[in-house]
Formats: sequence, C-alpha cells, structure tokens
Amino acid sequence: MVGAAAQALWRHLPLALNTALVFSVTAEVSYLVLLAAPLEPSQKESAWKAAHLCAQYFMLGSITWNASLFLKTSPSIRGVFFSGDFVGQGWRYCYTCETHTPPRCSHCYDCKVCVLRRDHHCVFFGQCVGFRNYRYFLSCLLFMWSGLLYAVVMNAEVFIIILKEGVTFHSVALLLLPWIMLVTGQVTAQAFAFAFIADTCVVGFLLVSAFLFFHVGLMVRGQTTREWYSSRRPYSLGPLANIRECLGVRWYVCWLCPLIPSALPGDGISFKVTGPLEPMQ
Ligand SMILES: [Zn+2]
Ligand SMILES: [Zn+2]
Repeated sequence: MVGAAAQALWRHLPLALNTALVFSVTAEVSYLVLLAAPLEPSQKESAWKAAHLCAQYFMLGSITWNASLFLKTSPSIRGVFFSGDFVGQGWRYCYTCETHTPPRCSHCYDCKVCVLRRDHHCVFFGQCVGFRNYRYFLSCLLFMWSGLLYAVVMNAEVFIIILKEGVTFHSVALLLLPWIMLVTGQVTAQAFAFAFIADTCVVGFLLVSAFLFFHVGLMVRGQTTREWYSSRRPYSLGPLANIRECLGVRWYVCWLCPLIPSALPGDGISFKVTGPLEPMQ
C-alpha cells in the first residue's frame, strides 16, 4: 500500500515540478511587467503592460490546455478493435497484453499497455506519446518554447540589473550558483528568486529548443523516436504528408488552438509502407 502510494507520487512528481515551474516563471514575468522598474519610459504605459499580459496568459493557457488534452487522450490500444488479419507485415504479438499489435505499436512498461504508433514515454507527463496525442504534445512543446523564449527576453532586465554592479564575484556567483549564495546568506530571498527563475528560463529554453527541433525533424521525416535510430524511413510519405499524419488535416492552423478540429488521416493501425522495413529483431 505504502509502496503503491510512493510509486504514484514518484510518477507524478515531474509533472508537479513542471507545473510549479511554468506557473512560477509566468508569475515572475508578470511581476516584471507590472511592478518592476521598466528600463524604457514607454514600458510604463498600460497598453504595453496589457499587451504583454495577454501574450503571457495566452501562452500559459495554451501550454496547460494542450498538456491536459495530452494527458486525457490515451494513445493506448485499450478499446481499439483490430479487424482483419493481424499477420501482415509489422504485426507482432504482445505477451503482456496478450494480443496481436499493429506495426509501429509497442509495449510501455510504465503505462503497462501497448501504445499505437508509440513515440516514447514522456517522464515529464508520466504518459506515453503516441498516435492520438502527438498533436497536443507538439503544440505544448511549441508554446513552452515560445513562452520560455519570451521569458528569457523579459529576464534580460534581471541579468542587466545583477550585472550593473559589474562582473564581480558576487554577481557571477549569484547568476551561476544562486542556491549557494542563498544558503550562505550572501543574498536576499528575493534576489535569489529572480536569479533562480532567470537561470531556469535560460536552461529550460535550451532544453525545450533541442527537444522541439528534434521532434519537428522527426515529424517531417515521418519517424518516431524509436525509429530514429535507423536510417530507414519505411513509413515516410514526403514532408507535407508526414506533417498531416501527425497533426491532422488542418495541420497549418490546428497548433494555434486545441479547439480547432483536425482529424488524423490514418487510424494508427495500418500504415502505408513506402520503403524497406527493418529486419525483425
Ligand atoms: Zn503490450
Ligand atoms: Zn508509457
């Protein structure tokens, strides 16, 4: 009982930490816009502040909305009926789920189920990325990327204020090791919080950039993360068709808002094979 509770806590911890970080960064940037002394006189105008707040909360709303739809949309084979013969190319048998599974489907030992067109198990969400929820995963990444880029630009002011005293040991240590400066009592809690969030924005932006560009590359190539290890692209239909396969028929606009319907062309079960498949392992 205690073991199961600890396991559930462990599984949800990354999501809780991520949520806390996203909301902290938004709160900090809102504080910078509303209350911190702006560098330019034009930034004191309410129209400037209102435009910035709208942009921030649009990005925050898009991140949380896409993340919740991602979590709600199960990519697993539960409730999916496989008709026809399952002995075609790429079909396998999963001994854990005790069923035949279609091509590009694989078993996730964290989710304890087979997942259609499985990409990877996302530790930050505690759920697999697969055929049905790939759109929300990518949109969430896109808005996290744009939100962090925006936060880095807004936090440039924090870096400027910290470095105003010159490149001293104190200012460099505050930027690089804010925790140590706080624990040793060298800075106030407020200075620590600003330096910590500004650092988090830069590191987060670099990480999310790498992740976003990797996944956009995979989408255009018509591969999943599992297939990326191979130079073969047996399911690639050409860049535009590959994007449609992942984002749906309204791929050009659906990422703007999760409400925009965008039906996926495929069913996640059968895939057109356009090149040689990998040898069975
Ligand atoms: Zn399975
Ligand atoms: Zn999983």
